[in-house]
Amino acid sequence: MSIGKINIYVCNKCGRINVSDLGKYISKLRCCACFGKLSYVSVGEARDYVTEPKYRSVFPEFIKILEKRMEQGFKEYGDKSFERAPKELLNEIEEEVVDICGWGLILYTKLQALQKKVEG
Ligand SMILES: [Zn+2]
Repeated sequence: MSIGKINIYVCNKCGRINVSDLGKYISKLRCCACFGKLSYVSVGEARDYVTEPKYRSVFPEFIKILEKRMEQGFKEYGDKSFERAPKELLNEIEEEVVDICGWGLILYTKLQALQKKVEG
């Protein structure tokens, strides 16, 4: 995806391509690799190669939800969970995994019913 125009320069010394935002005065700047003088080549499209990972947009909300759950756990059990043995924590995780599968099965039946309605 193009995110605007850029000026393209080539280094007279090493041949490396250098770019700048359109309108930015670069003629006095030097090559970012070897500090050689730059020659203007043309205007080009700046492409969005560096994109923000999707998880970052939902991460703050996820952290808030996690903190709320941790706070809820603290109110119910205090900090006792931090004293539990790793084996006990593994058992808790195992139970949660089974629960997730159960919830998944229930959701699956609901989706099946919705699909039957859509198909008529
Ligand atoms: Zn150079």
